[in-house]
Amino acid sequence: LFAGPVDFLKGVVAMEGLPPDDRPEICFAGRSNVGKSSLINALTNRKGLARASNTPGRTQEINYFTLGDGHYMVDLPGYGYAEAPVAVVEKWQRLLRTYLAGRATLRRAFVLIDARHGIKPVDEDIMALLDTAAVSFQVVLTKADKIKDKDRERVLKQVREKLAAHPAAYPELVLTSSEKGEGIATLRTIIAGID
Ligand code: GDP
Repeated sequence: LFAGPVDFLKGVVAMEGLPPDDRPEICFAGRSNVGKSSLINALTNRKGLARASNTPGRTQEINYFTLGDGHYMVDLPGYGYAEAPVAVVEKWQRLLRTYLAGRATLRRAFVLIDARHGIKPVDEDIMALLDTAAVSFQVVLTKADKIKDKDRERVLKQVREKLAAHPAAYPELVLTSSEKGEGIATLRTIIAGID
């Protein structure tokens, strides 16, 4: 799936803008600064593909990429900006809710969690949305190179305990580092296996 060309298709700001739901699709969600752009760039081997700096208040777009002639890969806007205006947050939540509940071809959401911080309340909010929409989701821990080996087990335990409360969660976690390449091939294989 990642051997073919990966192209940016379009940025979407409303449900009417979604491309035809004619193929399987996966999406990435995560708090701003979690390392989502870096992960997408690492997965696709394309440095500038996902914009690496997301600015608060920027148009909240759902970015669509095509993976070869297979899946759509969808980059959801980062959530949890402390400074984001309430109106922006509400608009984004409405779009997100509609997207998650209404996109029949959405096969799996990957929820990115900073391996140093574990699952925070804003992450739980998105997981609750995914439960409600019955969209299966899998947690991808990011920036694994930044945690010490001795802290790994503690974080993994916290994440596993929190996930147990979410019916839509896959128990299997993926630990990644876009910097060091850890887990990137594993994640590619997981995505390629989704149909
Ligand atoms: P986004 O806002 O979720 O798209 O996050 P970015 O991909 O822009 O990353 C936010 C910051 O974390 C940047 O300074 C990145 O260089 C850094 N970062 C992202 N992934 C990693 C990683 O795997 N390891 C380390 N050490 N830093 C990372």
